[in-house]
Amino acid sequence: MAKERCGYCGGKGKVECDCTGGLGRKGANDDCYGCGGTGVSMCPACEGRGYENVD
Ligand SMILES: [Zn+2]
Ligand SMILES: [Zn+2]
Repeated sequence: MAKERCGYCGGKGKVECDCTGGLGRKGANDDCYGCGGTGVSMCPACEGRGYENVD
């Protein structure tokens, strides 16, 4: 099994949360279940690992 950098997050393992509306942290919702107000959430594609397993 090979590992490949996650194309969704670019290998960072984190993505900007939808609640920011593209404004970054200042646009984040403090009550957001996804990011808790940080504006950054774990990448759903790689679950925060930054890479994907490729068969
Ligand atoms: Zn990812
Ligand atoms: Zn959020």
